[in-house]
Amino acid sequence: RAKGQGKNQFAFFEKAMDDVMRHKMMMEQSLREALDADELCLWYQPQIDMYSGKIRGFEALLRWNSKEYGLVMPLQFVRLAEETGLIIPIGYWVLKRACLFIKELHARGYSALTVSANISVAQLMQNDFVESLRQIVAASGINPAALGLEITESVLADSFDLIIGKLQAIRNLGISIHLDDFGTGYSSLTYLKKLPIDIVKIDKSFMDGMQEQTEKELTESIIEMAHRLGLKTVAEGVETEYQLAKLKQYQCDIIQGYFISKPVPEEQTYSLVEKLL
Ligand code: C2E
Ligand code: MG
Ligand code: MG
Ligand code: MG
Repeated sequence: RAKGQGKNQFAFFEKAMDDVMRHKMMMEQSLREALDADELCLWYQPQIDMYSGKIRGFEALLRWNSKEYGLVMPLQFVRLAEETGLIIPIGYWVLKRACLFIKELHARGYSALTVSANISVAQLMQNDFVESLRQIVAASGINPAALGLEITESVLADSFDLIIGKLQAIRNLGISIHLDDFGTGYSSLTYLKKLPIDIVKIDKSFMDGMQEQTEKELTESIIEMAHRLGLKTVAEGVETEYQLAKLKQYQCDIIQGYFISKPVPEEQTYSLVEKLL
């Protein structure tokens, strides 16, 4: 290859890097303004109790309605929010919104419904996280038992004892802890025993593989083990009747997925509740 061409390629590469960086910086700037500009919102996906067949509550999922970028999904900006520390104010906003939503649901008479919100490890690691959470919940006036926090297994990668202590303190407030995306990390069933949690959310990848014998057996044993440990199980990403039937057979407690409903904006949740009650 000619020398000149290599140089060109390098220049091209450099420009591509520049573009990526510039895009990231612009997005970061927009994200910084998103909270004040009122561009963030929560959408809600129903969770169904397997036995009653009725709605149990919702998972709150963050959306960014950006002037520049349109509707942005969390996988496209939560990482950036984590890297820049913006996840801290955003995360508190999410918790406040979720509490307000619970308050509204209960005020409308749906007082048994729960809402779970996703939190990042960076939030949990804040020194005053538990105290701030306590204040947010107290200020909203809701029953803390109606709120759940979803944490992923990756939360547990470091500072295991510190995290355990915080999760315990959160549960002492009456708020429940849900272990999200279970089965994707280095999760082991023995180590599930050590965690102060209430609910295990079986990752969608198990639903995707549900036609396979191994996947079925794995799903069944996760549910069995969780039950033995006194935990409830949620299957996430349930898309088909077949998956639902299998989950019922394995006695999974709660299901969530497109088969029931996609996440919807708050104004649509109330008619959804009426339909699923
Ligand atoms: P997650 O907590 O595991 O949420 C489940 C994701 O699966 C959601 O994507 C949901 O819309 C999607 N989903 C649910 N049912 C189905 C289904 O049947 N089929 C398919 N294909 N997908 C389904 P979403 O809303 O894009 O969120 C992605 C991830 O972003 C979440 O995964 C969570 O880790 C993160 N996230 C969302 N909201 C927040 C937040 O407020 N704070 C933080 N820190 N992370 C959040
Ligand atoms: Mg979740
Ligand atoms: Mg999940
Ligand atoms: Mg997930």
